[in-house]
Amino acid sequence: MIVNERITSYINSLDSGNSDIVNKIRLEAIAQNVPIIRQESENFLKVMLRLSKPKHILEVGTAVGYSALLMSENMPEDCTITTIEKYEKRIPQAKENFKRAGKDKVITLLEGDALDILKSLEGPYEFIFMDAAKGQYMTFFEDALRLLAPDGVMVSDNVLQDGDVIESRFAVTRRNRTIHSRMREYLYTLTHHDELQTAILPIGDGMAVSVRRKNETS
Ligand code: SAH
Ligand code: MG
Repeated sequence: MIVNERITSYINSLDSGNSDIVNKIRLEAIAQNVPIIRQESENFLKVMLRLSKPKHILEVGTAVGYSALLMSENMPEDCTITTIEKYEKRIPQAKENFKRAGKDKVITLLEGDALDILKSLEGPYEFIFMDAAKGQYMTFFEDALRLLAPDGVMVSDNVLQDGDVIESRFAVTRRNRTIHSRMREYLYTLTHHDELQTAILPIGDGMAVSVRRKNETS
């Protein structure tokens, strides 16, 4: 936990929830230990969607479709979502959840490794939710930027690696060391790129929000 636990519970106590079916799918995902978006991050995502009013959303990392459904309830009516997942076990569950919520027409699930799929997409997308394996964000970056519309918003989840990212790489367990250096490189890139304006927020597991600048000189 990055933020004081009492602050987080207080913030979460103010959360007014979602539709019945989305609330139900959330509880099912938690019961099955599926890693879904943290409760305190949901409202941030919803506010970003209301501000950016996208027509096309791209999500990297569907899991069982919870965040895609959450976004579908908070996007403009004529907006569509494309979401990518490679884990075979979760794909049918996500599809089933889209049907249950009556959203299978507006959400398209692309099956396979985002490394390949992103290359095949044309975009542009006005909103990208980056929420797959955090050690891979840097390898997704070039395509994500190519696919992001001018003024488009990209939200990257889990960027503070449960707080590990601020530790020395030697204090991080060997297993997490590669993620640690790749995440630092990703955050440095997001914050120093000419075409992006990025804020890093200690919400949930850390979220970065980046806006694509038009071709302006800074
Ligand atoms: N966005 C979801 C949670 C996603 S969890 C929610 O909040 O409800 C991250 C998901 O990304 C996992 O299901 C994992 O299988 C998937 N994933 C990780 N690396 C991937 C890759 N390279 N290509 C496609 N999916 C990937
Ligand atoms: Mg996440």
